[in-house]
Amino acid sequence: MKKKQEKCDVAVLGSGIGGLCSAALLANKGYETIVVEKLPIVGGRCATLKYKGYKIPTGVLGVPMVGSFKSIFDEVGAEFDVTPMTTPPKYLVGNEIIDTPESDQPDAILSRLCSDEKEIAILKRGINKARTWSPPSNEMSLQDFIYQYTRNENLAEYYNNMSDRILSTRAHEVSAKEYFQSFSGSLKDFQRVGFAPEGSIALMKALKKAIEAKGGKVITQCRAKKILVKNEIAEGVVVEGKKGETTILANNIVSNAGPKKTVALAGKEYFERGYLRELRNMVPSLQIWVTSISDRPLFDVPILYTYKTRRLVSFVCVSHVCPELAPKGKYIHYSISSPVSQIAPWNLKNEVNMHIQDLKDHLPGYNKYGEVLHVGCYWGEWPTLANAPIVGYNDIPQKTPIENLYNVGDGVAKKGGWAGGSPGCALTAKIVVDDIENRFKPGQSL
Ligand SMILES: Cc1cc2nc3c(=O)[nH]c(=O)nc-3n(C[C@H](O)[C@H](O)[C@H](O)COP(=O)(O)OP(=O)(O)OC[C@H]3O[C@@H](n4cnc5c(N)ncnc54)[C@H](O)[C@@H]3O)c2cc1C
Repeated sequence: MKKKQEKCDVAVLGSGIGGLCSAALLANKGYETIVVEKLPIVGGRCATLKYKGYKIPTGVLGVPMVGSFKSIFDEVGAEFDVTPMTTPPKYLVGNEIIDTPESDQPDAILSRLCSDEKEIAILKRGINKARTWSPPSNEMSLQDFIYQYTRNENLAEYYNNMSDRILSTRAHEVSAKEYFQSFSGSLKDFQRVGFAPEGSIALMKALKKAIEAKGGKVITQCRAKKILVKNEIAEGVVVEGKKGETTILANNIVSNAGPKKTVALAGKEYFERGYLRELRNMVPSLQIWVTSISDRPLFDVPILYTYKTRRLVSFVCVSHVCPELAPKGKYIHYSISSPVSQIAPWNLKNEVNMHIQDLKDHLPGYNKYGEVLHVGCYWGEWPTLANAPIVGYNDIPQKTPIENLYNVGDGVAKKGGWAGGSPGCALTAKIVVDDIENRFKPGQSL
């Protein structure tokens, strides 16, 4: 029997943010584009599952209202149905709620945590230098950076919380360089954040629609099985879908499956040892997200940052912004925690127990009105960030050692800008599409 064959300009493997942003940009520029996704739904870690009448994210909850992610929707004409959050977060320190006027700004509560004006001045000078002049070394942790200026335990806790919630890595493991650079990179897009009332999957469906409107294809339940390489150049991919096996020949392959899977799909023999070592050093980060429900909001603002807890770093009452995510009269909340170390072994059961105990001990009203709906543990192949910015991390490039084969997504998100998330993944798509555009014209013959 003759094997099925298709041709296109670009084959995209995986429909996460990186994959769909790349495909939408390419299709919009006239490239014949085919996306294959092994799951029945698009979006990967930016999708939404319906559970007992509630809409639960597979990853992305909040997205920036400006910057690299949003600009792709504007460029390709995809609907960006996101409700902005207008109320600033508050802080829960132990059991006390602190409400600062500018509490959405980093370091806004420093003055409450420092012992005196002199300590504030010394610390601020060090932080300003790191942010505006030159970042600290990639070989130094944020904790070591802070310890240069103060041993104040309150501050140590504060920076633990900050680095945990923005980079899912605690201060003693996170690269001080990445921490400070992320404020001038994509993380600054999050100063204006919003939530999708139909769940983040609606955004991914909007990109799919934009791809299809330009003649591209997005095929779900279709797994990439092998990337075809000839003379160290990628020339196609073998996929298996509902209708059996097909070979897609393409000028360029964009893999959103993660750099390690890309190697497995193409064959290890095409990659130099140094590159493989860098991939082995990648640390995917663990986070636990507990979904709690109630018939009243458990606090009065959408985001509460929690510290001086066992594990909990933040609590989000998304119903304040998007009541559509819960059935009428019900409220949905997410609480977030990470282990103390992303590198040392952790016990998942203990981590979940500590998270739930934190909710009970610290969140006013939780015991009386809150109920756990769902516990999600995200790590390994479904991590919060595929390449957490641990001290000494490797910045994996989007181009692979095989010509015409690229990676997109948070495994190859540009460090020194933020390790991933929606803006970081969108940025990888932009970088790859620019490169393809410089090298190939739409329809250039294979
Ligand atoms: C719990 C959690 C909460 C988060 N919250 C936020 C947040 O609020 N805001 C934010 O910006 N970021 C958040 N993130 C981070 C964000 O989800 C990720 O950085 C981003 O979604 C990763 O996208 P990606 O492009 O790497 O693709 P992925 O989401 O990793 O998608 C890859 C896709 O490729 C598919 N695939 C894999 N192998 C194959 C194959 N062989 N063939 C075909 N398809 C294949 C997979 O099924 C998947 O759909 C969160 C992550 C988690 C886990």
